[in-house]
Amino acid sequence: MARVAIVTGGTRGIGEAISLALKDAGMTVAANYAGNDEKARAFTERTGIKAYKWDVGDFEACAAGVAQVEADLGPVDVVVNNAGVTRDGTILKMSRDMWEDVIRINLGGCFNMAHATFPGMRSRKWGRIVNIGSINGQSGQYGQVNYAAAKSGIHGFTKALAQEGARAGVTVNAIAPGYIDTDMVAAVPADVLEKIVAKIPVGRLGQASEIARGVTFLCSEEAGFVTGSTLSINGGQHMY
Ligand code: NDP
Repeated sequence: MARVAIVTGGTRGIGEAISLALKDAGMTVAANYAGNDEKARAFTERTGIKAYKWDVGDFEACAAGVAQVEADLGPVDVVVNNAGVTRDGTILKMSRDMWEDVIRINLGGCFNMAHATFPGMRSRKWGRIVNIGSINGQSGQYGQVNYAAAKSGIHGFTKALAQEGARAGVTVNAIAPGYIDTDMVAAVPADVLEKIVAKIPVGRLGQASEIARGVTFLCSEEAGFVTGSTLSINGGQHMY
């Protein structure tokens, strides 16, 4: 039986590339998204991958969404927590809503999805959870205390949950992408982006497919000894 995978935010950007890569690796994929029905419809037409709408920041919606996927496709073996948003501003201009939205969706989404899927993986003695962090969660970023805190939290969440899953065959890892050519980065002003690219040793933005390749490895049967790790895919921009 093919493994069943859920990719949150899986209908565009990095998530789309991950959905496609897991499908190519032989998995049955469910791609979650938040509200962009038009992109989700086009994605399903293009790829044949079913799209499911729910807000990963909503605990009950995640439980219901996972139950629907399991009813349609079978027990979930793999979760890629990729959905993420930015609400940038210096702390002087950051409202409480901007803070709470980013923590709720980016970090809370990982908890909500793991809460709905980890018990099943544990009882079936096999599972893969990959959380998409960020270079800005490793090094911090001006104007992003909310996003940096959420992404940094993802790295701690990963290490803690990895310890809970290790004996039961459930691995939990993170990927910390650098700057990847998606809609999220297209929103960065051109002059700022130019300065960012100048600081990337390989001299270019990353491609979504380069993140997807790392996810595919971490979700593979062969990666059972890799857990609690963070794979940085950032063109050498941050090394440690
Ligand atoms: P995009 O903005 O291109 O896509 C975001 C995806 O997440 C969309 O599918 C969107 O759905 C979905 N989404 C947003 N909010 C929610 C929600 N509340 N519930 C469910 N789905 C949601 O992002 P990227 O592809 O650029 O980024 C993907 C991940 O990678 C994010 O976690 C991001 O923080 C991280 N990352 C990105 C980097 C980059 O350079 N692009 C760098 C480092 C990390 P919809 O289409 O319906 O809006």
